[in-house]
Amino acid sequence: MPARVLIVEDEAPLTLLLRYNLEAEGYDVEAASRGDEAELRLQEAPPDLAVIDWMLPGLSGIELVRRLRARAATRELPIIMLTARGEEAERVRGLASGADDYIVKPFSVPELLARVRALLRRARPERIATVLNAGDIELDRERKRVARAGREVDLGPIEFRLLEFLMQSPGRVYSREQLLDGVWGRDVYIDERTVDVHVGRLRKALNRGHDRDPLRTVRGAGYALDERFGKPV
Ligand code: CA
Repeated sequence: MPARVLIVEDEAPLTLLLRYNLEAEGYDVEAASRGDEAELRLQEAPPDLAVIDWMLPGLSGIELVRRLRARAATRELPIIMLTARGEEAERVRGLASGADDYIVKPFSVPELLARVRALLRRARPERIATVLNAGDIELDRERKRVARAGREVDLGPIEFRLLEFLMQSPGRVYSREQLLDGVWGRDVYIDERTVDVHVGRLRKALNRGHDRDPLRTVRGAGYALDERFGKPV
């Protein structure tokens, strides 16, 4: 699921520029042009991160941040504040009011994107991680590549999704039915034994040239990725 970013800014061209670039990075973007409107939206469905301008009609950015921090649902919401150039005192107040980071206008878009990424990585690592690691296995979601101990592992698309699913919660045991739902999707009728076939293929591909098997078969329960494998003994 992509991370949701809310832009609170009354300058339409800037909102457009930010929206375009954030969407290109794969985020779900929403926008509000007034502070009071943003406050309502944030109460209904808090995003994963908010970019909030200092000067807003309705309710100032700083007051908005202060109110968000006073509520349990948005106390931890990652917030980047936009401030005008040279307003050092304002920046200090912005951070004091509870923003996690601030950026001075005019700013470069790559700079803002880097800040967004850094803040999300800190606050919502599961929403930003493109590379998953477990033991000596590395799975790159974007490049659709898997390596074990630095050597590339050749997997079919189902085996890739199966491994990705298991790597999201190492150690957790999944039943065949849960794996069918998570990997093949609901509403698909497939025999549960198909899961065994694909786990078998995944295991064979992963273990080629290795003697430690990272996949655990739990009798009567299902399968798990062993979270301890590959760690120094
Ligand atoms: Ca403004």
